[in-house]
Amino acid sequence: MSSSPPLSPRRPLPPAPGRVTFALCALLLGLHALWVAFPQGDPVTRLWISSLIYIPTFIFAGLTCLWNARRHGDERAAWRILGAGLISFGVGQMLYAYLLLVRQDPPFPSVADIGFLLALALYAWGFLRFRHPPLTRWDTLRLGVDVAIIMAAVGVYAWQYVLWGVLQAYAGQPVAAVIGLTYPVGDLLLLSILLLISLRGGARPGPRETLLAAGLLALIVADQAFVVLGAAGTYQEGSWPDVFWALGATLFAAASFRPPQEHALFAPLAALHRAALFLPYVALAAAFALLIATHGAAGPAARGVLWGTLLVTALVVVRQVLAFVDNARLTAQLRQLSGELEGRVQRRTAELNRANAALRELTDDLERKVRERTAELEASQARLAHQAQHDVLTGLPNRALFQDRLERGIATAVRERRKVAVMFIDLDGFKAVNDTLGHAAGDELLREVAARLQDSVRRNDTVARLGGDEFTVMLLGIHSAQDAALVAAKILDRLRQPIPLEGAQAHVTGSVGVSLYPDDGADALDLQRFADLAMYRAKQGGKNNVTFYAPEMNAAGTARSSMEVGLRGALERGELQVVYQPLHDLAGQVRGAEALLRWHSAALGHVSPATFIPVAEDTGLIIPIGTFVLNEACRQLAAWREAGRPIERISVNVSPAQFVRDDFVDVVRRALQSWRLQGRDLELELTERTIIRDVEGVSRRMAELRAMGVRLSIDDFGTGNSALNYLMTLPVTTLKVDRTFVQALEDSPGAYRIVQAIVALGHALGLDVVAEGVETPAQLLQVRDLGVERTQGFLLGRPGPPEDLNWQGAPESPLDEEPTQR
Ligand code: C2E
Ligand code: CA
Ligand code: CA
Repeated sequence: MSSSPPLSPRRPLPPAPGRVTFALCALLLGLHALWVAFPQGDPVTRLWISSLIYIPTFIFAGLTCLWNARRHGDERAAWRILGAGLISFGVGQMLYAYLLLVRQDPPFPSVADIGFLLALALYAWGFLRFRHPPLTRWDTLRLGVDVAIIMAAVGVYAWQYVLWGVLQAYAGQPVAAVIGLTYPVGDLLLLSILLLISLRGGARPGPRETLLAAGLLALIVADQAFVVLGAAGTYQEGSWPDVFWALGATLFAAASFRPPQEHALFAPLAALHRAALFLPYVALAAAFALLIATHGAAGPAARGVLWGTLLVTALVVVRQVLAFVDNARLTAQLRQLSGELEGRVQRRTAELNRANAALRELTDDLERKVRERTAELEASQARLAHQAQHDVLTGLPNRALFQDRLERGIATAVRERRKVAVMFIDLDGFKAVNDTLGHAAGDELLREVAARLQDSVRRNDTVARLGGDEFTVMLLGIHSAQDAALVAAKILDRLRQPIPLEGAQAHVTGSVGVSLYPDDGADALDLQRFADLAMYRAKQGGKNNVTFYAPEMNAAGTARSSMEVGLRGALERGELQVVYQPLHDLAGQVRGAEALLRWHSAALGHVSPATFIPVAEDTGLIIPIGTFVLNEACRQLAAWREAGRPIERISVNVSPAQFVRDDFVDVVRRALQSWRLQGRDLELELTERTIIRDVEGVSRRMAELRAMGVRLSIDDFGTGNSALNYLMTLPVTTLKVDRTFVQALEDSPGAYRIVQAIVALGHALGLDVVAEGVETPAQLLQVRDLGVERTQGFLLGRPGPPEDLNWQGAPESPLDEEPTQR
């Protein structure tokens, strides 16, 4: 045990020597009490025992404090001093016993008093060495005044009942009087120190303080009794004050086992602690009580009480002044603090305001940028929309725009009770020009024809190019077939004029077919079909002429109804089949496949989907057929996966009629589930026709499908009616550039710009872009160059039965290899 172990709750047992000495000390106390209660033996023995018995009690108590001091850290010194005080008292008593028992002559004062007085001084010193929480100057001052008030009040009582008596008893013996007074005054001093300790700011007296206070009280009681009895000459060895001395020493020793404030405050002591606040007033009241009680008495004793009470009163006044000053000081501090706080709040507010302004500026900036971007997007959208609705070569409206204008024209005609004429014009002899003079000449010729056609009609009429050498014209506001005939004749005349081309003159004529609203048909589609039929007749009738539609020409209607009949049982008869065309990524790897429907009709032979799908849509047959395709495609994907083919997903075409149905999402979910596929394995191809019908329902279903992971592609992008505005809001994932743009890439810079714009638009919206209809290596190079994600077309793989799909992928550089099939 060389070093002192740190005080910690894990080591509750004090060092053994301390426990042993304490046990002896407590045992002696018990025996002492018994002895005083039941004295035995003859007077001499009694005198010996009662003079000696508490010497070891003090020595053991002192040793206990000394031993335990090691465990008290920075309060070690305090406990050593207290221990020394106890031992000093023991030594004093030893000297006193020697004088009394051996010399039979105990003088007062004697050398023994040195030990006793030294003990008092050491106690006081020890108490002051206990750890104090830091006190401000003000706290110390107020505490000092409080203690002074209490001590003064106690002093008044001590004066009245003890001090005055002592002074009188030792009259004429100055040394004895001083020493006799030193005991009670010293006790008062000790009491005040203890009060200091227990009243000190914020401290919560614990068991240790309680034990010390009790010990000190016992010592004081014994001292006072000894002084009073001694002064009166009635003090007896072996009487009860001796037990109180021993008790005080034992309680000190017991306190040395307790660390300061180890436990919560004892309830009674806590109350006392709170009451300490009122203690000065209680003291004042007590002093006055004594003053009143001794009222009327004269002499130095009564005067002492009067002066003492005045002192207490003066001190209370000082205390009030101090409290007042302190309050004023605190108020000033508070005011200063709140001023500072207010300043801080103001500074923070200013900072926040600045930050706000900066934020607003940023937001404005952002808003401006968004506006600019939106304007740019709108401009490019408008450009794109124009390009999407016009023929690249001639700048004339294309089929879609023509159809649109025709519908509006018909609507106007209904209101104005006028007629509308639709003309189909096919050039005669154009192929010859193309073959002999080349494509460039052919293009120039087409542009000239376009110009002449536009010259031949009025401004609000429409001339459109359908493709190749086919044009259409819509005449508005005419009254009779005669009006149309005149314009047709004018057109034929203008076309007949030779067309000067580079180094040559070309001669072409036109065959014109005309249909009339409302005479021949009521809707735009019929009118176009009938004009087409009439044009066909015109060609058959020797070209360069005009033919008006007549109902007997309508053989197509019959063809259509026979197709309807054939299509009805096609599914059941197993005439429908799904073929697959691969989609490649930029590295030329097969990534997906598009499911395309084929119909081998027993009655009609092979029918193109472009022909029978519209019929299926009109008759509602597209619903079971579409579900069949969806299931087949899922089954095929599952089979490919089973065979270890690295295919990402399958694409399936969906008609508007399918997509607008409420159960469509369920149909898709069931198809995926029955082949254990995930949503992301499927891509649905929709056209702009789908989107412009029932935007709300379509957008809801799209969202549901996207939530399942299904991808959504806009097919034939750029040919439909402008659905660009919906692109921004609908959860589309892919754009499929229509093949007419891809195929025009090589000879039309306009097409190049359109594809470029579509790719840019798609990427700006975060969409994948697919180029379809890639037929030549040059087209493949160009679309790859433009940055599309996937490619599809005859060059890379034709639609075919699943087992024919070429998994090897396409050559990395398409120019290395001749396309296998053209
Ligand atoms: P689409 O969805 O645009 O399909 C692509 C069409 O382009 C297919 O014609 C395909 O054979 C053809 N194609 C692919 N590569 C090239 C190429 O390099 N050059 C050229 N000139 N054409 C190429 P297909 O199979 O005749 O289908 C025509 C249209 O019929 C499809 O156009 C689609 O709109 C519709 N369709 C086909 N199957 C289905 C189906 O199962 N459901 C629905 N609703 N529509 C279908
Ligand atoms: Ca498609
Ligand atoms: Ca397409």
